[in-house]
Amino acid sequence: MGYIGKEETGLDYQIRIANEEWERIKNDEAPRFSICPPPGKAHCNVCRSTENPKLCSVCKLVYFCSPECFKKAWKVHKVVCPGFQRDAEVIPLYNEVLNQFPWTDIGYNDVGFFSELFVLAHFGLLGTSRQKVGYWAAYPRAQASTELLDAPWNRLSEEQGWRMAKEFIPTLALQNSDKCPSFPPKFESNWSSYYEWRRLPIESPAAMLLHWPLSVYACLKELNLGPQIATSPRQKLTVFYVGAREEVHYIPVFGELALLYSNADLDLVMFGETTKQSVERAKARGLAKADRPCVFEYTAPEACGGGTVRVFIDSNPSYTYYRPSRERSEHPDAIVGLNAGLGSYISWQHVLLRSMEFDIPFAITDYALACLINSETTMNVLYQALTSTLPAPKGEMIAVQATMQKVLKESEIADEKVATALKRERPGKLNMFMQPISKRMDLSRICPGSRNACIQVLTPGKGRGSLV
Ligand SMILES: [Zn+2]
Ligand SMILES: [Zn+2]
Repeated sequence: MGYIGKEETGLDYQIRIANEEWERIKNDEAPRFSICPPPGKAHCNVCRSTENPKLCSVCKLVYFCSPECFKKAWKVHKVVCPGFQRDAEVIPLYNEVLNQFPWTDIGYNDVGFFSELFVLAHFGLLGTSRQKVGYWAAYPRAQASTELLDAPWNRLSEEQGWRMAKEFIPTLALQNSDKCPSFPPKFESNWSSYYEWRRLPIESPAAMLLHWPLSVYACLKELNLGPQIATSPRQKLTVFYVGAREEVHYIPVFGELALLYSNADLDLVMFGETTKQSVERAKARGLAKADRPCVFEYTAPEACGGGTVRVFIDSNPSYTYYRPSRERSEHPDAIVGLNAGLGSYISWQHVLLRSMEFDIPFAITDYALACLINSETTMNVLYQALTSTLPAPKGEMIAVQATMQKVLKESEIADEKVATALKRERPGKLNMFMQPISKRMDLSRICPGSRNACIQVLTPGKGRGSLV
């Protein structure tokens, strides 16, 4: 039994235990989890009992120990069950993503899921917030940082940032390098093909972080804003990256996009609680003047297309997230939100409504297809609120409806266009550049995917195809 000492945060504790557990089991023939959940012991989704829980016969993802517990959960579960069912159906596809890598057989548990913590422990990348381990130190949760404006990564070499053997690093130091990927970029929509083009051995765990820029790329492609190789003049693209969290601690990985967007200037503007606090504190200390300082810039060599990526972090004071307003006429070419949780955060609704009002292409990724069902529910309620077709609220719905009406009032939206857009079908699809892990589970087999597991286009906008 470990305990959290005075000097140890909850996150550090979790990481220490994972490291210790990995040390203990790493020489086992077939390493198995024993932290979460204990071997062979799934938990009832309601009472957490481990006694003979059975899978829901419809979704086959969530455990219940008894008909009583199933009954208790049904009111909530019936909403999410169809989404889980979709996830259960695409488990072979998730596995296809995982199976491309030789290291994803590390630390499987009894129901076939494996821990990202063990993968990182295996590669010696699991530090604590005290022992900074380059880009991996912020793992797995966002920690507000005041030093972002100092661009701490500028003090790290690529080797210090990635902390891996040189040949495992997706280097951006490509000038006169034999690692220069061929130009124009040529790869299929999967990790092994991407690794091949990028001249990375498949043994490299780089995808554990590269999935961030690659998921941005996958979203933009869905919005018809994918790279154009032979553009003349140089292409300019401004993308608002909304809801940034832990990724602000390893921004250099987004330099990857410069290799994909050649002959282009891609500006990525990050919004989030962390960026807001960082900019505010840096301004208070006289370290920054701008509301939106540029914290990273990278230009690929001519031989790789010469694309430039700049990353800005925004102090947008109005909310955790970017809230476009009528007064501020600035509109990006696209909005992306990674691991959005659209159904969970009310602040997304402002972004959603404005993206529809102004036709700003907007795509999100989420943890699993099941999460997209929550997005749909949110949009249906928004639609009903907007068109006043909301039934008289009951119980907890009174609060939901009140919040929704507040959002609509603040947005000043009474637009048929938005109502039509909300009603449109938004099928989700698997993101083949998802992080190649399966999520840890506490109570059930929920979430077979990982960060950025699937993509959904919320506002297609005009896209590039219909311009000119
Ligand atoms: Zn139970
Ligand atoms: Zn179910």
